[in-house]
Amino acid sequence: MMDYSARIAKIEESKTLAVSKKADKLTADGEDIVSFGAGEPDFPTPEFIKKAAVEAMDKGYTGYTSVSGLPELKESAVNYFADNYSYEYSTDEVIVCNGGKQVLFNALSAIVEPEDEILIPKPYWVSYPEIVKLAGGKPRFIETKVENKYKLTAAELKAAITDQTKAVIINSPSNPDGHFYSKSELRQLIEIIAAEDIFIISDEIYDKLLYDGRDFSSMIELFPELKEKILVVNGMSKSYSMTGWRVGLGFASSEWIAKMTKIQSHTTSNVNTIAQYASAKALASPELKKIVKDRCQIYQKRRDLTAKLLADIAGLKTITPAGAFYFFIDISELISKKIEGQEIEDSLSFTDLLLEYNKVAVVPGIAFGMDNFIRISFALSKEKIREGISRIADFAARLE
Ligand code: PLP
Repeated sequence: MMDYSARIAKIEESKTLAVSKKADKLTADGEDIVSFGAGEPDFPTPEFIKKAAVEAMDKGYTGYTSVSGLPELKESAVNYFADNYSYEYSTDEVIVCNGGKQVLFNALSAIVEPEDEILIPKPYWVSYPEIVKLAGGKPRFIETKVENKYKLTAAELKAAITDQTKAVIINSPSNPDGHFYSKSELRQLIEIIAAEDIFIISDEIYDKLLYDGRDFSSMIELFPELKEKILVVNGMSKSYSMTGWRVGLGFASSEWIAKMTKIQSHTTSNVNTIAQYASAKALASPELKKIVKDRCQIYQKRRDLTAKLLADIAGLKTITPAGAFYFFIDISELISKKIEGQEIEDSLSFTDLLLEYNKVAVVPGIAFGMDNFIRISFALSKEKIREGISRIADFAARLE
């Protein structure tokens, strides 16, 4: 029978990538689009990292590496981690995957049984539920509250845990709303998890993009005694402007990493060798810290500008993000309004009409589990932010 699998039928296309695709097509057709859609830095990969890739090719480093990663990269990664977070992983406790996405896929595939539930607080990064489903598990969403800045509380977590719970995913700083858990908030959550037989997947991919002098702590450095339970997701994409290089890093017990390596050995094998060499050089270089710090300051200024401009638009509500590079904007007051007779019914129709009438691409909140919201990225120049937000203001003013 020529049927495609039921498992794949349950998977949705990434709505964030769909928006970028639509905006790119309109731009290619000559339209002047301001796109707040992409989840990636607008800065180029630092020059010295690109040079390291060229050097790798010149030296002929173009063959396979070991499945779990180039030894030099694993070494740089654990040293970099120890330098930043006073926790020493060994090199058999790290795996190099094709982006944080593959870290998550491998990690979940290694632990999930068919009836297992993975707890995901809402709003969530678009791919978590789909990766859970691909791995054969069931996403179970936990509602959070705006007054807690969408952060999960210990009571909410406790109430959600059942016999089917296999793991919980915590993302801080978060995509799509930039919330950030303080040490004491993390401690309260972990006290609940410590008493249960469940894993924690801590997605720390935006760890270096944190504003107003906030200090990031990795989950593992706060709870080294839970090392068998915790998997940390990180990677080169966001902090180092290397989204296209596809280098993700997973840190966990050697047992969990070995299972993930087994999966990777029969799927993608090692990550692109040249990208691994360049990443090894990047993480070992003192230059990286300064570049990341400088860029973070620029993001903070763009965030402040975005917050100021959004505050002047009637009908939009948002919380200034503590980290990452997104604003998650509540559009509920604009739902059921119309533009030239066309009604805004939900986040998807808002997104479509905004693109059609004012040539601005944003991501519908439904992609993150909340249909009264849109997400905009502020990884754009100040000029583009000003232009794009003034178009959103014009769109909102035209609604009746
Ligand atoms: N985790 C979060 C919260 C993200 O926003 C992303 C990318 O958008 C990723 C993980 C995966 O990034 P990559 O696969 O590029 O490393």
